[in-house]
This record gives sequence, C-alpha cells and structure tokens, in this order.
Amino acid sequence: MSLNVVMLGPPGAGKGTQAEWLAREHGIPKVSTGDILRDAVQRGTPLGKAAKAVMDAGKLVGDDIMVGIVRERLEQPDARRGFVLDGFPRTVAQAEALETMLTGRGPLLVLLLDVPSEELVRRLGTRRVCGTCGTNAAPEAPAGARCASCGGELVQRRDDSESVVRERLRVYEAQTSPLVAHYRGRPTFVPVDGNQPTAAVAEALRRAVANAGALTS
Ligand code: AMP
Repeated sequence: MSLNVVMLGPPGAGKGTQAEWLAREHGIPKVSTGDILRDAVQRGTPLGKAAKAVMDAGKLVGDDIMVGIVRERLEQPDARRGFVLDGFPRTVAQAEALETMLTGRGPLLVLLLDVPSEELVRRLGTRRVCGTCGTNAAPEAPAGARCASCGGELVQRRDDSESVVRERLRVYEAQTSPLVAHYRGRPTFVPVDGNQPTAAVAEALRRAVANAGALTS
C-alpha cells in the first residue's frame, strides 16, 4: 500500500526535518514546495524569478502555480508508492486540488506539528541552513559548524529575518491554519506535539504512521 503524507504546521514547527526522516525510512520522496521554489530562485528560472519577491516578503505564491508544481512532481515514478509533502497544501484551495490529484491513490495521512508561537519565533530566529544544499542545521550545531550533509557554510535563510518571520506567521494563521479545521474531522488527521526534542517528535510520527492502517480500515 502507498503512504501518502502531508506534514502540516506553522513555519519552524520542524516539518522539513521530520519529513526528511519519514521519507527516508519509507523509501518515498519528500516533496518540499519551499525547496522546489528556492532551487528555482537559485537557478534563475522563470518560476524562480516570479516567486522570489513573494517569498522574500513572506507571502504565498499563487495557488495555480503551486498546484501545477505539485501535480507534476507527484506524477514522477518515484512518487508512485507515496510521498511526504512538506509545505503543501497551504490554502484550502490547494488542499482541494490535492484531493483530485490523489484519486485512486489511497488515503492521505495528515500529521499536524503543534508548536507554540513564542517557540516558533525563537527557532526561526536562530535557524541556520546550508547555503549550498539548503539542509537545515541541527538546532544544537555550535557556532562555526559546517553543513552535516555537504560541508557547506551555514547561513540564515533570507525569509528568517525578524520582520519576514512575523509576516509568515501571520500568513500561516490567516491562510494555512484553516486547513486544520478542514482536515480535523478525518480519522487520518493526527496532531503531534512538536514542542519536544526532534527524536521524540520523530517517534510520535512513526507511531502515527504505524497506526495509519488501523485508522483507515
Ligand atoms: P517553506 O520553506 O515551506 O517555509 O516555504 C518558503 C516560502 O515558499 C513560503 O514562505 C512561500 O512564500 C513559498 N511557498 C512554499 N510552499 C508554498 C505553497 N504551498 N503555497 C504558496 N507558497 C508557498
């Protein structure tokens, strides 16, 4: 059976890190729309050129563009056995489009990472990512540390500056948090406490995935 997962939660909740681990454990791709957009910006493609100012302002790229990107990505052969979506859907319209993409692909497991907003602000203010490959550094990485994946320099993400973080959290509340109400009534919606050490969060998510069969049968 395929494993179709959406990681839901505010910026800084740990979606990227956890999605990476979950995807690796199950041999399915992590599909991060933020990573896809950042890659396009770095390469200077038409998509990157269109998205850059929107991302730098902490706003959302248009639904049609995002739905097109995800539809194309989920059609790739490596996503046939499932996927872990990180950063998509971010609006109710994107969630509805995702439903149509998933026709015949089995249930969607929605994992919500809950983290209080003061903790999100603290995490995003201190987050470092690799300037070369984009991997998140471990929160406890000492000053001067290099990227654990490729040895690149660790930098602050452009949109992790204080004013943009405030806007991203506002946008989450206004446009993405309604998705919690959208999914909450389903048996395959599982909230997880994201305000604990990353290994404990990973364990809770692992349990949620293991129980998913029971939830859907
Ligand atoms: P993330 O890495 O998920 O925090 O995404 C970084 C930025 O990319 C967001 O602040 C948005 O500007 C844009 N973005 C990523 N995913 C989406 C999406 N599903 N819909 C709209 N904009 C997105």
